[in-house]
Amino acid sequence: MKLMDKTRTSLKKYFDSRAFRERYHCDEPLGAFREEGRTAFHLWAPTASEVTLRLFQRGDGGEELERLPLSPGARGLWSAEVPRDLDGVYYDYLVTVDGETRRTADPCARACGLDGDRSMVVDLRRTDPEGWEGDQAPPLPPETVIYELHVKDFSWDPASGVRPEWRGKFKALTQTGTTLNGDGVHPTGLDYIKSLGVTHVQLMPVFDYGSVAEGGDPNEYNWGYDPVNYNVPEGSYATDPRDGAVRVRELKEAVQALHRAGLRVIMDVVYNHTYHLDSWLWRTVPWYYVRQRGDGSPSDGSGCGCDLASERSMCGKYILDSVLYWAEEYHMDGFRFDLMGLLDVPLMNRVRRALDKRYGPGEKVLLGEPWSAAATAARPGTRLAHKGNLRRLDAGVAAFCDATRDAVKGSLFHAEDAGFVNGGGLDASLLACCVKGWSGDGFVSDAPSRTVNYLSCHDDWTLWDKLAAVSPGRSDAGLLRQNRLAAAIDFFCQGSLFFLAGEEFARTKNGVKNTYRSSPELNRLDWDRAWDNGALVDWYRGLIALRKRLPGLRDKSPAAGARLLAAEQFTGNCSGVLLDNAGDSPWRQLCLIFNAGEDTVDAELPEGVWDVLADGDSAWHWQAPYQLRSSAMLGPVSALILGRR
Ligand code: CA
Repeated sequence: MKLMDKTRTSLKKYFDSRAFRERYHCDEPLGAFREEGRTAFHLWAPTASEVTLRLFQRGDGGEELERLPLSPGARGLWSAEVPRDLDGVYYDYLVTVDGETRRTADPCARACGLDGDRSMVVDLRRTDPEGWEGDQAPPLPPETVIYELHVKDFSWDPASGVRPEWRGKFKALTQTGTTLNGDGVHPTGLDYIKSLGVTHVQLMPVFDYGSVAEGGDPNEYNWGYDPVNYNVPEGSYATDPRDGAVRVRELKEAVQALHRAGLRVIMDVVYNHTYHLDSWLWRTVPWYYVRQRGDGSPSDGSGCGCDLASERSMCGKYILDSVLYWAEEYHMDGFRFDLMGLLDVPLMNRVRRALDKRYGPGEKVLLGEPWSAAATAARPGTRLAHKGNLRRLDAGVAAFCDATRDAVKGSLFHAEDAGFVNGGGLDASLLACCVKGWSGDGFVSDAPSRTVNYLSCHDDWTLWDKLAAVSPGRSDAGLLRQNRLAAAIDFFCQGSLFFLAGEEFARTKNGVKNTYRSSPELNRLDWDRAWDNGALVDWYRGLIALRKRLPGLRDKSPAAGARLLAAEQFTGNCSGVLLDNAGDSPWRQLCLIFNAGEDTVDAELPEGVWDVLADGDSAWHWQAPYQLRSSAMLGPVSALILGRR
């Protein structure tokens, strides 16, 4: 096909057309595939007039070894075969479209060299760590409690006790037995995370991203929401970013170590945009993978100027294949979709079905942000996976719940905006909505299987910094009480649970809101602080352990909402709910009361004897409860969790 006479806007129509899809949709495997004695290269480039493969000894610099043409075949597929096993050989392509030739790495590469600049042919079996064949995720837990972690944040702090050469790397996730400054007493790192009772560690982007120079200054830092190679791990987290096999092996080692620690692993995936418009996808098939506005300019719903056109069949296929690849090759147990509101509903449902079919229903977690940064220019008629379309998504696709997040601690758009725990009032009917995970009649969701409750994630302020911003001058002790109450409310809402690593020890970024390219010093997990705030950590630990034992809150079914039996307003700052807790639990009913006020509240209880499962002092009373009847005294800014047998 010649594009010479096609303007950008007619190209958009052409790529959106059924005719294009019917003629060029290609289900052949794409990428470089080697075996003994041969290596095959397959690239989908339907608009190209010429494609040349170049082979290199190295991933950066060095001599070109060889150059050979790819042959065009049916459905836009270009192929070449080399009669040798090219394991460890680097390559790229020269793709000519419309008379213009662009150099590109392979968008389907599974290994790459420094900075992802060239692709690498790889024998994936030689990247498997010892025992990988037997690697298995721990059994599916009764509740999903997700801990969001950045690889570099995890071990940057020398106090972590992690080996210096592994700090900031995938390898740090494999080191057990670390303690605070090596004191042998206070566990840090992997052992510490294991002790929290969380079920899933969600790794912030670990695919190859572009904003940190690999092998450069270790102080360079980025969250990594800027994809370069979607199917290759990031090189700055590897001990050797120049050898393409090392990053692959070391990420697998990290997953294996997390599995051994009893933790499942969720991968943060960013399929809504690429680092630059000028991506490998773009260079291979200009404009096909990118949404365009009516005037032909690139759509910008992501804030990055290059929204991917997930609704186009080969783009959707690229995303689905990528997810399946990470699940299969790296044993990932779930995926968190960045700006899921930019991807289309049918794609998300295909991903859900494909994972369920391969691994069993619900085995892999899917969650996403049900919004976008701005409007996007999807093909007309495309249903996007945003909040308004939650009910059109498979019930096994969950979405972050901003309503509870903002209700509990105040809006993240204004520093001074207060929520339940910091002076905003604690309205019983609003509390009831939160407890039900905003699910049921009249809500955007029909079941809490779609709800992810959280108070903090990598974006915006940490919970601690937000609490401090709302109440300047409040003592640390006062802020800690608010933090405890906030966590108690959040952890006793229906839906899955999620929190930013360090929220449990009052993590601070000194009030800086979005630290995506701040220093690793500011972003690091401060392991001294983790132990200084050990009482708060213990509160989280107790709440998590208790939550796992409460079927009334774990229930993700559409019937879960009916478990909310009553909501009661005690004072303007104190309210509670009564919940049906039928299931595998000694307690038939639960009574949750939260007092956000500065005064002690004498709350009247429903009749009967109530076991105190958690109170203002401890989240561990459920192990040996004491009893209350008729009324309960709640201290200032405190929670009371009660169970009736
Ligand atoms: Ca990179």
